[in-house]
Amino acid sequence: MKHAKSGIGRPAPARKRRSFFSVHPSRADSFTESVIREMTRLSLAHRAINLAQGFPDFACPPELKAAACAAISADHNQYAITWGSQELRTALAERVMAFNRMEFDPEGEITVTCGSTEAMMASMLALIQPGDEVIVPEPFYENYGPDAQISGAVPRHVPLKKDFSIDEEAMKNAFTKKTRAVILNTPNNPTGKIFTRRELAVIADLCIEHNAVAITDEIYEHIVYDGKKHLSIGSLDGMHDRTITIGSFSKTYSVTGWRVGYALADKAITSRIRKIHDFLTVGAPAPLQQACVAALRLPESYYRDLAAEYDRKRKILYTGLRNAGFACELPEGAYYIFTDISGFGMSDMAFARHLVEKAGVAAVPGSSFYSKGGETRLRFTFSKKDETLVEACRRLEGVELPGKR
Ligand code: PLP
Repeated sequence: MKHAKSGIGRPAPARKRRSFFSVHPSRADSFTESVIREMTRLSLAHRAINLAQGFPDFACPPELKAAACAAISADHNQYAITWGSQELRTALAERVMAFNRMEFDPEGEITVTCGSTEAMMASMLALIQPGDEVIVPEPFYENYGPDAQISGAVPRHVPLKKDFSIDEEAMKNAFTKKTRAVILNTPNNPTGKIFTRRELAVIADLCIEHNAVAITDEIYEHIVYDGKKHLSIGSLDGMHDRTITIGSFSKTYSVTGWRVGYALADKAITSRIRKIHDFLTVGAPAPLQQACVAALRLPESYYRDLAAEYDRKRKILYTGLRNAGFACELPEGAYYIFTDISGFGMSDMAFARHLVEKAGVAAVPGSSFYSKGGETRLRFTFSKKDETLVEACRRLEGVELPGKR
């Protein structure tokens, strides 16, 4: 009764309450959920072949599985040192020196992260103050939009030319007093473009002139075709101290679920990245870091075979898409084909849904790679078994497509 008198325990008087979320907006409101991951969910719901999300449906190298199991059995199951195990950082420094022609001190210039996704977020948070500008060539990998929003950056999108090369004039004009960084991705997702030495040199000169940093996502560095060569902007003169090179084990070794990547940068930038990284994730999975050392010990032939395998897959999907009526080009690198669907007379979202429902094949609507536009494009991945690709092509060729010539 005491309670009744004081009002405690009684139902609260009916008062119209506004929900917390309608009153207090958050930075999470400024971007949408990932369209790529959403297409995966739709694909599962329709039992479609998922050519939307870029992950392999084939096994990773057996050496990696054995090394991961051995690391767990040997009790490497507690936190590794926050910025990555010494052995992995040393092995990375050697590999980066041999392949990318860049020298990084494993003690103070390499941070092992939870995939390149975390490396990019930690880099942005380490560099950006709210209101700083970040230049993003467009089309771009969809994560860079939310990365900018979360870190408070103002993105300045610079359209690539029709052939997806850098528009030097537009790039020059995008730099302002507020520019802190340029986000590059080569080989590129979704276009497959590999930036040339000349294109990278133009960007490097602008970074030096405007005291800006290049953040370069190079996770497809080993997936290149037709004798094309990958070049790291960080290896160009004057760029070592103003580049963050981001890499990952996800694509090169077909272990997207392991979540191990890294950021390479000079000491001053690295010490900031490490602080952010520590409080974001503490560290990448310890036993899998051990297994990544085994990955870096694979012979050179592994990388040649990887590129050759993907070359064959690229041609299977390309031929199937052309036969099904899609306009597309063979990509120079990475494992996506960025098609032009304008001939079908349907917008990307509706067309992607139509393909999942009618053909049982999932792809990503082009607009998710643009700040605005992109509705005439659809991206397909060929990071799948040959038989998966052959079946997807059979379905695409067999289905009724709107406006099909
Ligand atoms: N960067 C690019 C360009 C990608 O295409 C992807 C995955 O598709 C990622 C980063 C994510 O990589 P990770 O698995 O290392 O986080």
